[in-house]
Amino acid sequence: MISIKGLRKKFGPLTVLDDIDLDIPSGQATGIVGPNGSGKTTAIKALLGLVKPNAGDILIDGESIKGQWDYRKKIGYMPQIARYPENMTVSELFEFIKNIRETGETNKDELISYFGLEPELEKRMRTLSGGNRQKVGAVLAMMFDPEILIFDEPTAGLDPHASVQFKNMVHREKEKGKTVLLTTHIMSEIEELADYLIFIVEGQIRYHGPMKELIEKQQEQRLEGAVAKMM
Ligand code: ADP
Repeated sequence: MISIKGLRKKFGPLTVLDDIDLDIPSGQATGIVGPNGSGKTTAIKALLGLVKPNAGDILIDGESIKGQWDYRKKIGYMPQIARYPENMTVSELFEFIKNIRETGETNKDELISYFGLEPELEKRMRTLSGGNRQKVGAVLAMMFDPEILIFDEPTAGLDPHASVQFKNMVHREKEKGKTVLLTTHIMSEIEELADYLIFIVEGQIRYHGPMKELIEKQQEQRLEGAVAKMM
């Protein structure tokens, strides 16, 4: 479904993505791991059309995303650090995004209730706790029920209870057949959620393959050990 072909991105002299060729399996959760600065966020931004590659292409359902915008409707994105209109209340923000999208159809009420956001709805964004901002981000990413979900360090600001809530939600989306892409530096989270692993170091794919294969290969070693070996 998502096919990355010869993708290269440089920032000045720095090559951040170095000829990436990759097929991301659909209907599964793919974990992108790698040290800080290895190019994970840049790869996600290229997929979202927020970063223009120097070479290569990304195809979604066989179609190049170059010069396109409509394909973005297939993607829900929860950024690591999000900027919101801070003076809006949570419900105003949801309404605002719904109006931009020109649709009456959303599953936001179900998501609000899932994340227990009801008491926050009339609060202004700037007064929200970090965890609740993350939850608002999760609702925004999923309210239009997109085929592809991208989460950049999704549980970074969440307390343990909210992390579990979030992980259960990812399992639910997978069961619905969604394609999930997530970056995290928490290895246990990858083990728990990902069916497929992409390991990036300095803009190059060091490993990609089914998680099962990786875990079997390493036999009694935990994933953390397997990944440490590759670094
Ligand atoms: P990761 O998500 O794996 O931590 P990033 O994709 O954020 O890595 O960054 C990869 C490298 O590209 C880093 O060295 C970062 O400093 C650099 N970088 C990212 N965005 C920009 C930018 N807009 N301008 C210049 N350098 C950037």
